[in-house]
Amino acid sequence: MSHDPNCIFCRIAAGEIPAQKVHEDDELIAFKDIRPAAPVHLLIIPREHIATLADAEPRHQALLGRMALLATKLAREHGADNGFRTVINTGPDGGQEVYHLHMHVMGGPRPWKQG
Ligand code: ADP
Repeated sequence: MSHDPNCIFCRIAAGEIPAQKVHEDDELIAFKDIRPAAPVHLLIIPREHIATLADAEPRHQALLGRMALLATKLAREHGADNGFRTVINTGPDGGQEVYHLHMHVMGGPRPWKQG
């Protein structure tokens, strides 16, 4: 499993940097976004360091599917049961700031700060 010691999300996955984790399994971790843009704002990341969605390979197909299914489960568990938004920002023009693949899961009663 690739681990980049300079990557903040790899370090969260490794437990080297604290985060409010809401899910952990052998492949995926989810935690609360430090700057929430909605009442519920979670990030789902793979443990493996995949820089962007565009770097995902065919062998990651099931992993990507698991991320989507986990989004629904966590949204429900965190009270975003009236719908939620999933976002994966990819690359500079996609507005990606942290170069470790992550899925935003945002929900809760509107209006939100953004979006
Ligand atoms: P953007 O900031 O434009 O949404 P990204 O899609 O790369 O870009 O999202 C990175 C997200 O990671 C941001 O929502 C940011 O608040 C969050 N974030 C950055 N550092 C941490 C951290 N240490 N713990 C939790 N969330 C973090």
